[in-house]
Amino acid sequence: MLERVLRMNINKGNLDENPTEWLEHLFEDEYCAECGGDTTHHTPIPFMGNWFARCDYPPDEDGNLHPLIVQYRKLKKEE
Ligand SMILES: [Zn+2]
Repeated sequence: MLERVLRMNINKGNLDENPTEWLEHLFEDEYCAECGGDTTHHTPIPFMGNWFARCDYPPDEDGNLHPLIVQYRKLKKEE
């Protein structure tokens, strides 16, 4: 059975903030350093008193980006 690795973006948000808006702001100008995704590839979770963005499509154990993210970024470039 495959072991699931939990990946999260290191940036955290205040729990007072609206998590959806916080996520949008977080990935407004850059992709996630962990998984290469943006707002649509993360789930906000409250952890240790802050919001964290959990990567929904983490890279594989060799560090290769998830195929969905590769495809998404390719489409973004072509826009
Ligand atoms: Zn991520």
